Amino acid sequence: MTTYMNFIDNEWTAAYDGRTIEVLDPSTGEAFAQIARSGGSEVGRAVQAARHAFDGEWGGMAPAARSRLLFRISQALLDHVDELAALEQRDTGKPTGQARADALAAARYFEFYAGAVDKLHGQTIPYPQEFTVLTLREPHGVTGHIVPWNYPLQIFGRSVAASLAAGNACVVKPAEDACLSLLRVAQIAADTGLPAGALNIVTGLGAEAGAALAGHPGIDHISFTGSPQTGQAVQQAATANFVPVTMELGGKSPQIVFSDADIDAALPVLLSSIVQNAGQTCSAGSRLLVQRAIYSDVVGRLSELFQATRTGAAADDPDCGPLINARQLARVQGYLQEADEAGISVAARGQLDANAPGGGFYQVPVLLGDVPPDHRLAQEEIFGPVLCAIPFDTEEEALRIANSTAYGLVAAVWTQDGARQFRLARQLRAGQVFINNYGAAGGVELPFGGSGQSGYGREKGVEALYGFTKLKTVAVRHGRS
Ligand code: NAD
Repeated sequence: MTTYMNFIDNEWTAAYDGRTIEVLDPSTGEAFAQIARSGGSEVGRAVQAARHAFDGEWGGMAPAARSRLLFRISQALLDHVDELAALEQRDTGKPTGQARADALAAARYFEFYAGAVDKLHGQTIPYPQEFTVLTLREPHGVTGHIVPWNYPLQIFGRSVAASLAAGNACVVKPAEDACLSLLRVAQIAADTGLPAGALNIVTGLGAEAGAALAGHPGIDHISFTGSPQTGQAVQQAATANFVPVTMELGGKSPQIVFSDADIDAALPVLLSSIVQNAGQTCSAGSRLLVQRAIYSDVVGRLSELFQATRTGAAADDPDCGPLINARQLARVQGYLQEADEAGISVAARGQLDANAPGGGFYQVPVLLGDVPPDHRLAQEEIFGPVLCAIPFDTEEEALRIANSTAYGLVAAVWTQDGARQFRLARQLRAGQVFINNYGAAGGVELPFGGSGQSGYGREKGVEALYGFTKLKTVAVRHGRS
């Protein structure tokens, strides 16, 4: 069984007391590797290495050189796409197509931010003539990145590539269920020439390594992606050190389908936005609001699509792979049991492959019909392949239901009515609104983030670079000639 160590200062480093955590394959439930179970001392070493890099070779590198290096890392990741996708698949149970898409996305983030490095600049400010006033965009210094298990490569790519591009040195704490691909990326980056200490990966449990990173006084910025509950703990730890944080949290995102919508175009998207990654997507389209005139038609046709989905082992590239672990499976099953007890009807469920291994963490996609909008199932993030269908009569009612959860991450509107498209785009509580599509293919260019319990701050796009820098104002008083 392979043991994966921490990657600190461009070297493999075991936890100081040699403790490890077993890594399970979600498709079989069997252990196949172990990772280091680190804590405060390993986090401390990583922060020290990052500080050294920031104060040294990495921090002093000219922007154009930093840009070229990040381009080379992007290319190196592309050269290793199959290997990274295979690691990710075994570690997280992602179907082949999704695992590959995530590895490609990580390379694309490095490419995008590589191109931005030498275009990120401050401004001059009009001021009385005896002054020249300018602003400088400076890196924070050492940034901490706490990453969840659902899209490790993508979430690492979007926050770490942006942070490195802005000139920071990074310490990353991946989720204990999804470390392997990120350790490999760090090694690839080092082999490509990233100076020691610029990117460090420390593995371990959230309550140990994660908490140590969140509360470390040597961290200058934290980018957290995960659940609102953990986000609260991270925020409190950061506050004690006056450290700014970006919070990318959960969602309960609505898709609103009006009776004038192009239903043929909408149906496959309504399905894929909840089945992708077995519904373990913060921006999953997990609430389906349908205007009553077409409600039974849409639910009926969508039911056929749900019934045709195949759930099975990740390597068989099914529509729906296993959930990440037994705890997540029990959580989703608990919600489904509650639906049953509340008399909420199952409109459709998918098929489990006959050859899906018995020990895997499988949950077939489920479409629930007529879910009361204020029920827990329609309010809370299930984080599994469960879609709640809700009928509505008017635009006002749809908007009220859509905005009625504690979240505000993503929303979609399906309608041909142009005025309604803009009205709802402005009124929906969400960081991203999609009209007649969902996710716009997830482009790295599109700023992403939420409000309420979905968090705050924006990642992705050029916008993210502002979050990974701080603005300094310089006023030079030179007098008038
Ligand atoms: P989680 O909050 O349990 O864990 C996220 C990370 O935090 C992991 O690395 C974990 O080890 C670490 N952690 C746990 N306890 C900690 C502590 N006390 N201090 C510091 N770190 C700690 O979330 P998860 O179960 O891994 O991921 C699922 C959640 O993430 C869902 O709610 C999902 O919606 C959200 N998510 C959000 C986005 C987004 O961009 N908005 C993207 C992906 C996932």
